[in-house]
Amino acid sequence: MQEIRVGKRGWKMYRQEYDVIVAGGGTAGIAAGLSAARAGAHVLLIEKNSYVGGTAASGLPFIDFFNRDGKQITAGIAEELMKRLFQEKAALGHIRTSGGHLNSVTMIDPEWVKITAEEMLLESGCELLYHSFVCGAKVEEDCLKSIVVANKNGLTEFRAGCFIDTTGDGDLAKFSGARYHLGRESDGLCQAMSLLFKLGDVDVERATSLFSENPIPACPVGGDHEYNLHISGKLSKWNDIILKEGIFEHPDHNIWAGTMRENELTYVNTIRVSEKNGADAYELSEAEIEGRRQLKKVIRFLNAYVPGMEKAHITSIPNGIGIRETRRIDGEYILTGEDIIEGRRFDDCIARNGYCIDIHDPKGQGWGVSRIQSEEQSYDIPYRCIVPARIDNLLVAGRCISTTAEALASTRIMPSCMALGQAAGVAASMAADRKLAPRKLDVKSIQTILRGNGALI
Ligand SMILES: Cc1cc2nc3c(=O)[nH]c(=O)nc-3n(C[C@H](O)[C@H](O)[C@H](O)COP(=O)(O)OP(=O)(O)OC[C@H]3O[C@@H](n4cnc5c(N)ncnc54)[C@H](O)[C@@H]3O)c2cc1C
Repeated sequence: MQEIRVGKRGWKMYRQEYDVIVAGGGTAGIAAGLSAARAGAHVLLIEKNSYVGGTAASGLPFIDFFNRDGKQITAGIAEELMKRLFQEKAALGHIRTSGGHLNSVTMIDPEWVKITAEEMLLESGCELLYHSFVCGAKVEEDCLKSIVVANKNGLTEFRAGCFIDTTGDGDLAKFSGARYHLGRESDGLCQAMSLLFKLGDVDVERATSLFSENPIPACPVGGDHEYNLHISGKLSKWNDIILKEGIFEHPDHNIWAGTMRENELTYVNTIRVSEKNGADAYELSEAEIEGRRQLKKVIRFLNAYVPGMEKAHITSIPNGIGIRETRRIDGEYILTGEDIIEGRRFDDCIARNGYCIDIHDPKGQGWGVSRIQSEEQSYDIPYRCIVPARIDNLLVAGRCISTTAEALASTRIMPSCMALGQAAGVAASMAADRKLAPRKLDVKSIQTILRGNGALI
């Protein structure tokens, strides 16, 4: 192990011991770092990329801050980030939709997520360590004592009163020996991945009007902004070409895209890479290569056949293929599909969600949704879902929380990942301060703090 070096010229001096360490600075990690630091903890957030944001910095819209009845379900830090982005002209307002599988869409500029979320974290006092991969853990008698981080300095060990795993894939929980599941119960396959991309020089109005001919019902086209257009449809019109030229394997292929600037599609979501495990570096490498292979064909297809996209060109690709599903940590409670469909309430609720169960077939054969059936059109996520069943000193937040594969297909959206991160941050700071295992905390006091900080629970 190398010694931590003292920073020069006013850079922050990294300590080796913190109250709270957050592993992964993506959607959930931003909220976890912020809420733990705001609660008074000394916090270090460790991120393998050169920026915070994770999947939230890939151009996707935040969906379903609202339920189907138009009632806001998620607020807190997620809403605060949207407001800050809006002030920077880097987000459009929430657009409520009806009839389709989405209840609301909030378009954001991915580059500004990196800038704005970083500013918010620094303001809170949270320290940031980039270009650093959490690659190991030391556990004694089921207690997570320290983690190992690999970066340019070599391997460094960090200790903390409490750790939060927000790596999306549950890396830290896995390294700690926590039990987990991967993929659907029947065959262990995970949902398909999608390489997202941003397109410049698109005649957005022409392109979107085309998809409104064959839309997924009632997804929004139009909104409260000149450039706020959202494509949501199928490429069925070009089935013959798509199958003949081998662009995609199956007919009636879905495309989702959205824009917030003139002449661009901020994200396009249509590529599908299936039957790969995103938590395995070898399979992930294959998935990245397959994603780019498809992308080359897709761009040529869009240029050749889709009116309004003749001159379209790729302006950016996110840092890594989009992964919908990998490990789900076994927690004190495992949230199920029935809990979601029936809109169940729990006494230890720490986040709520109004999104449907949205599954991209693991074998790449399409996509389907199941909607919440309860009167309230939303469900609770219990605190026990972020507490690993066996390991102490560790919480998880984001898409790797304790759910069935079916339930993950709903909890994984960004507003709920941020709400879970916010709750994990409060609980971790409390656990570190009181020197208690997270499972021994009084959930009522976590809920009181969350409510005081704008969470809708
Ligand atoms: C193709 C696709 C489309 C989607 N569409 C939408 C949508 O339209 N709207 C919506 O709301 N949601 C959407 N989602 C879901 C949502 O974006 C993700 O589920 C959510 O952002 C996951 O948040 P997270 O914090 O768990 O993970 P992430 O945001 O992925 O963050 C994980 C972070 O941890 C870092 N990390 C990982 N491993 C390590 C390690 N070992 N050490 C250090 N750092 C590490 C990563 O670099 C990353 O920054 C979509 C997802 C995909 C893949």
